Amino acid sequence: MPLSEFELIERYFRRCGAVRADVRLGVGDDAALLEPGAGTTLVAAVDTLVEGVHFPPGCCAESIGHRALAVNLSDLAAMGARPAWALLALTLPAAEASWLEAFTSGFAALAEAHQVALVGGDTTHGPLVVTVTLLGQVPAGAALRRSGAAPGDALFVSGTPGDAAAGLALEQGRLAAGEHEAFLRKRFLFPTPRVALGERLRRHASACIDVSDGLLADAGKLARASGCGVELEAERLPFSAALGALGTRQARELALTGGDDYELCFAVPADALGRLEAELPAAQWGYTRIGTLCAGAAVRVRDATGELSVATAGYDHFSAPQS
Ligand code: ADP
Ligand code: MG
Repeated sequence: MPLSEFELIERYFRRCGAVRADVRLGVGDDAALLEPGAGTTLVAAVDTLVEGVHFPPGCCAESIGHRALAVNLSDLAAMGARPAWALLALTLPAAEASWLEAFTSGFAALAEAHQVALVGGDTTHGPLVVTVTLLGQVPAGAALRRSGAAPGDALFVSGTPGDAAAGLALEQGRLAAGEHEAFLRKRFLFPTPRVALGERLRRHASACIDVSDGLLADAGKLARASGCGVELEAERLPFSAALGALGTRQARELALTGGDDYELCFAVPADALGRLEAELPAAQWGYTRIGTLCAGAAVRVRDATGELSVATAGYDHFSAPQS
């Protein structure tokens, strides 16, 4: 027997994610009632995942539930915010119990891990589309932005960018399977939003962005918002062992231009680098210096052979056919 809309909401969404004392009213009424903490600024983000656009058709439902929340957690992390409340707008081709169980288990596990309560949403029939609105809080005036960096600031990235793009290529059969296949697929299917790092970076970073469209593009957005240029050093890019096994050339291309990483890219003033390392040791927090903000507007990548201006034909060096 197919589930009614009401039964579906009751069974899968009435209790999902963390239980929070600041939720006066959650799922079940016409709207949720939430109580932001005194002295905090509310931070809001929304992201949509469309089947066939943001994930391959038939993608595992647990991953879709995880990613729908993870992409929003990553946006809040980039603002230095602490996530709290989520709303889920779900358009489904069918109310299939096994799919819904897997989807909610992926969503709920990540929500619980980050103390996020699901407080409302909407459920409709149609092609598979998942939209999550995430609300969080940051001490008033303390949010990170893309726009605070200055020439001379060091640029960092968390984690190992490029893995997710390789994982998606494996999912889509565009990359031949190798010994690291499971690791790379997992990096696409179950990205790790850097929420704790984002919160800590409020004390250190001059600007921050989350990497969703590719490191080079997003570092460029941070630089542009800050009125700077940026120079990345290709030799400094942190590859996972799995990505490195594809060879430097392909690993570099994926790390610079592949999407779906959900890592943080952030700037730190030169005179604050000692304090950053003392309070958030890079080895412990998993981030790497990859370049420097500079005067002007150019976005460049440098490697041992010299400087490549990626805004021009130099970009082709990275999209050349791979072995
Ligand atoms: P309305 O018709 O007033 O919009 P709905 O029947 O759509 O009410 O929703 C009833 C309740 O269930 C509301 O509190 C709504 O926020 C919640 N809800 C509906 N769909 C979802 C969902 N996918 N996830 C979480 N809460 C949901
Ligand atoms: Mg509704």
